[in-house]
Amino acid sequence: MEHKVHVVDTSTSPYAKIRPVPIEAVKLEDGFWAPRQRTLRERTIPTQYNLCEETGRISNFRRASGKEAGDFQGYFFNDSDIYKWIEAAAFSLAAEPNEELRDLVERVVDDIAAAQDVDGYLDTYFTFERKKERWTNLQEMHELYCHGHMFQAAIALYRSTGGRKLLDVASRAADNIAYIFSTGKRNGTPGHPEIEMALVELYRMTGKRTYLQVAKALLDNRGRGVVGGGQNLIDHKQFRELEEIVGHSVRSLYLNCGATDIYMETGEKALWGALDRLWRSLVERRMYVTGGAGARYDGEAFGVDFELPDAMAYAETCAAIANVMWNWRMFLATGDARYVDVLELALYNGALSGISLDGKRYFYVNPLANRGDHRRQEWFPCACCPPNIARLLASLQGYAYGVSEREVWVNLYAQSGLQVKFSKAIRIEQRTEYPWQGDVTLAIEPEAEADFGLNMRMPGWCGMAELELNGQRLETSIGPNRFITLRRTWSPGDVVRLALHMPVERIESNPRVDASLGRIALRRGPLIYCIEQVDNRDFDVWDLVVPTDALLAAEWEPNLLNGVMVIRGEGLAFDSDWQDRRLYRPPVAGRRARRVKFSAIPYYAWANREPGPMTIWVGSQGTPVIEG
Ligand SMILES: [Zn+2]
Repeated sequence: MEHKVHVVDTSTSPYAKIRPVPIEAVKLEDGFWAPRQRTLRERTIPTQYNLCEETGRISNFRRASGKEAGDFQGYFFNDSDIYKWIEAAAFSLAAEPNEELRDLVERVVDDIAAAQDVDGYLDTYFTFERKKERWTNLQEMHELYCHGHMFQAAIALYRSTGGRKLLDVASRAADNIAYIFSTGKRNGTPGHPEIEMALVELYRMTGKRTYLQVAKALLDNRGRGVVGGGQNLIDHKQFRELEEIVGHSVRSLYLNCGATDIYMETGEKALWGALDRLWRSLVERRMYVTGGAGARYDGEAFGVDFELPDAMAYAETCAAIANVMWNWRMFLATGDARYVDVLELALYNGALSGISLDGKRYFYVNPLANRGDHRRQEWFPCACCPPNIARLLASLQGYAYGVSEREVWVNLYAQSGLQVKFSKAIRIEQRTEYPWQGDVTLAIEPEAEADFGLNMRMPGWCGMAELELNGQRLETSIGPNRFITLRRTWSPGDVVRLALHMPVERIESNPRVDASLGRIALRRGPLIYCIEQVDNRDFDVWDLVVPTDALLAAEWEPNLLNGVMVIRGEGLAFDSDWQDRRLYRPPVAGRRARRVKFSAIPYYAWANREPGPMTIWVGSQGTPVIEG
């Protein structure tokens, strides 16, 4: 392949420690992600295209170019959904060429290109009747946001197919934005960040430094009141002075992506200081156990510290995706395993719950408990989440590995093949049943003897592991949240075996999180579990208590939910239908409970069967009077 399909290309970024491995260098052959990608290719990408047509999202471009008559349809930022769909298709084409899909994408690109104005401007909402309003309301109108998604789509498509048409459109649009926003005409910044990371990537691809300067200018203009000065749009302070992660969760996390991208090019210490504070604020005080983010419906915003309601969680799918994207960039900057831990958590749980097993329905909001009325939808009038999860799943190969100076980094565990080249070509075959089992075997096949370091992530969830090289146990210090490094001369046929112990675990939250106070969640490996009513017929799952001494066992169920490891155990049901249906009463001596057998499934798989109550957090305390 002529062009390397990087998700984020830090190959020449001076302050990035890790260089990415392109999508086409990794072949996913696992039983978890590879089938999801097949579903994505066969169902998700085609159905999303049809929905984009049916809802007028593509005809908005044809209307803007005069190919069709009629009014603009839908929300003013609907162009962005097409761009995300193209990005998903481009990543998918990199892993598996498909002429029909490529032709379809090219036809959509033709419609987009024809809609561009002579000065480079392209936003179909403003093409005709609102022409004079262009760039007049950066706070609300998302023009920069839509352009950012266009740049990302164009970059992915060019890297994937070599097709220049959308890239030329994007370059003209970016030059227009650079003219408007970097010549002193406008001290602008977007109400919805996104374009910052896209401009940095466009700089990385084209070498045009102006794009990096514009991205930096947009970041520097925050906190000056140019988009209203409010906290929700992260305009209340200068970025480098931020102490806590606040505001609209997706905007905030996208902004952090852009700021991290700028850091990797500039190495500015004040910027890194802010990013480090924001990350700690998120991970230590404001993130869900699923890696989801954004507690509040109001403003789709982060709450205050420890404000993490479960049934009323907002936790937008896009916010979990943005959490993956940001932590990926933080990892590229540092090589620090903590960031991959958060990436993995958000990927397997808070983001993956956003799409159904059949690949055709989506959550916008991802509660951690529900009474059965929250179901995935085929589409949304504001359809940001569906094509966003599509582009993430389509590009997963790009996150699995990394390289640095003569070192290979194994970030994510999934059965796969990797091809990299230092002075010699090296093939690595990863054999594992992750996330269901923690055994990982890496067969190292350099074309001839080769010196390099192999870094394997010791996941944050894992408390114990063993490492073997060619059958010999290695006494390496192994602790969570870090990479284990083996530096040596590798020969063809070398085999490394990493056995990550993967017991069922109880997780408790900081007691200040009132929604989960005195409760536990179940975790096995990277997966957070939930209890769903359909698996537990004889008690209400919201009434379940798992005693601290209850035995918990993992059992493989090949025919359930496309194959899942379930957790089974004995619990107690404290039936909540109190006498007289009273909401409150004085405590009675000895609460009454029943012994019950319960079954838990991975959270990502909930709401794929008949509706019913679900909860992640269950009771864990109590000294009950046991009946029967
Ligand atoms: Zn969304």
